[in-house]
Amino acid sequence: MTDTCLPPASLSPSADGAAPPAAAQRRRKRIDSWAGLTMGPLLLVTLLVAAIWAGQSVHTERERALAIRTTFSHQESVLRMLAADETPANGMDDHATDESALINQLAAQVATNPALASTLTLLDPAGRVLWTPAFRPAPSPQAAQLRPGTPGSLSHSVVPLVGGNARLVTELALPHTGLRLRATRELDEVLGLPDAGRSNLRGWGWGVTLALIAAAALLAFIGHRQHRLYRQLCRAGDENQRLIDRLRDERSRAYQLASHDHLTGLPNRLLFTELANSHLSRARRSHAPFVMMFLDLDRFKRINDTLGHRVGDLLLQEVALRLRQTVRETDIVARLGGDEFVLLLTELDALDDASRVARKLIEAIGQPMVLDGHEIEMRPSVGIAIHPRDGMDVEAMMRNADSAMYEAKRSGSGRFHYYDPSLNSRSSLQLDLNGRFRRAILGNEFVLHYQPRVTLNGFRVTSLEALIRWQHPERGLVPPGEFIEYAEQEGLVVELGNWVVREACRQIAAWIAEGLEIVPVAINVSPKQLRDHSFVEVIRESVAHYGIRPALLEIEITERCVVEDFERPRAALETLSALGLKIALDDYGTGFSSLSYLKQLPIDIIKIDRSFISDIRNARHDAAIVASTIALGHNLGLTVIAEGVETREQVIYLRTAGCDEVQGYYFQKPAPPDAIRPLLAAGSQPMTAAG
Ligand code: C2E
Ligand code: MG
Ligand code: MG
Repeated sequence: MTDTCLPPASLSPSADGAAPPAAAQRRRKRIDSWAGLTMGPLLLVTLLVAAIWAGQSVHTERERALAIRTTFSHQESVLRMLAADETPANGMDDHATDESALINQLAAQVATNPALASTLTLLDPAGRVLWTPAFRPAPSPQAAQLRPGTPGSLSHSVVPLVGGNARLVTELALPHTGLRLRATRELDEVLGLPDAGRSNLRGWGWGVTLALIAAAALLAFIGHRQHRLYRQLCRAGDENQRLIDRLRDERSRAYQLASHDHLTGLPNRLLFTELANSHLSRARRSHAPFVMMFLDLDRFKRINDTLGHRVGDLLLQEVALRLRQTVRETDIVARLGGDEFVLLLTELDALDDASRVARKLIEAIGQPMVLDGHEIEMRPSVGIAIHPRDGMDVEAMMRNADSAMYEAKRSGSGRFHYYDPSLNSRSSLQLDLNGRFRRAILGNEFVLHYQPRVTLNGFRVTSLEALIRWQHPERGLVPPGEFIEYAEQEGLVVELGNWVVREACRQIAAWIAEGLEIVPVAINVSPKQLRDHSFVEVIRESVAHYGIRPALLEIEITERCVVEDFERPRAALETLSALGLKIALDDYGTGFSSLSYLKQLPIDIIKIDRSFISDIRNARHDAAIVASTIALGHNLGLTVIAEGVETREQVIYLRTAGCDEVQGYYFQKPAPPDAIRPLLAAGSQPMTAAG
């Protein structure tokens, strides 16, 4: 059963906003692969650049070392050349013996070879500068003697300078004097200008590489961190989702416990009321009837007392199962407690179906059942309430179905009972009809009652509606709702309808004979009757027979009259209309309310069904339907009549809305001809409300 299994929105555990885990995982995978796709190449590019720059710098370093070595050996040979005697080509004096002579010689060398200018320095043993090409101290008496000799000890060193540069220093200790001759060259100079540019470039290269590595490392770090955070977030999300799922499960379990009967699994009172309320509001909108049944097991207490609660429980479960299997999927079965069950039948085609379903339920439960080794036969009592006649809300319906169930119990075991007593007679009438109905027609057991239609402008009676009743010898006055359908099914309605036509004509003639101011009388025609080929003839004959004007008759049809067959009824109506009879479309709003019917049939009057009138002051939709039907009718040049008017408020409302006429208990209930006579006698006097 769909309705009972699905909790209503207000009770059901709602879906939370969290993404489903599968979607979250897909998203996570996407992000993972995105991170992989972007971080990988970035690192690769960085490593490539770093490798290129590293290779480049290894190469450069090698070049640099070679240059240093070459410079050192060059400096060494220059120093040896300066210090040695056997280099006459450089012009140094063979016998330079003292410091100043040496200085002079060096200066001379520098003069002839300016390239040496920046490289030479003469130091005393204490390391003080005695001479550089830019510095010529006055010859000092203490100047050490420089004697020629073999070159002394030699040292090479690379002295780092501020700013990353270095100086290449070669020192030659001159023998005998203790003086030291030093050749220096700036590394930059050694490497030459292009090299300096390259070194600059190299510096930049290193800078860029380092920056790139740093950026990549930073990015990798940030990416890794973000990824870690994201994964943590995902884990937290997963955890949340799990918690939400658990919560939802708990909620649905709690909901199940709170809304269902634990023994039978059927909805309990709480859920039933909720479901019934939602059906009720739908039924109100669609004007569809629905039926509530209360069902109680006879002698259940005795079974419980004698066979024990276990058997009692099994019995209730079996009953629940049988109830469910007997009704439709869309119907609702609930257990209210103890041995009380309630059913809501939502899709009945006709009210008679309620009796049929009740019988089926009683029969299904009445089948013997074997429980725990005991064979048990149960009989239920069923109370039936019908919406809207037996209650406008769920509480009223439940109360009335319950009291009908007690009535059923009182009248014997395994029975059903309607809350509306007339329906009880109806259901037993069904059995009676078979045998009696034809005889009733022949035996003249039917009577016509009349109900006036009253203008809202002046409250004058414009016409009467003839409504048939069966004056049953035992049951009293039976309303048409209880036998018209049967007459239709059994093919007796034409015969019955013909009787109505003749009786109405006879009555009109009788009133005329009494000298009363007569108004037209409307007769209700059933679909089969309208399709019957003799129908028009019967009317013709009757008016002729009683010598009345055809215009004193009106015909009320419903949309059902033209659903199965359109042409034949239309032709009959055209003929009648041509004869001078007015045609009214009855119960307007309950069928298709098709505009094409209004256009294609010779309709003069629309009668708005009483279901729209009953709550017109409160139901917004009903008021709108009534207002638009009035407007539509007037636009088509039709008279609009509202049926079932019972209160002064409805009269005022309809009058304000522009409705032409009303019919209902407010002015007059359907009454036998004698009760109508005073109305006719009053002529065009305004009618007052019924006492
Ligand atoms: P209908 O033609 O729509 O008749 C109006 C029904 O509303 C009548 O019920 C009338 O008694 C009832 N009614 C009038 N005013 C009020 C009111 O203020 N409040 C309430 N609650 N009801 C009001 P009734 O007489 O039981 O007739 C029921 C239906 O049976 C009619 O509905 C009509 O469709 C059918 N019917 C009646 N007489 C005949 C007949 O001679 N032949 C055929 N084929 N059908 C008939
Ligand atoms: Mg009618
Ligand atoms: Mg009607």
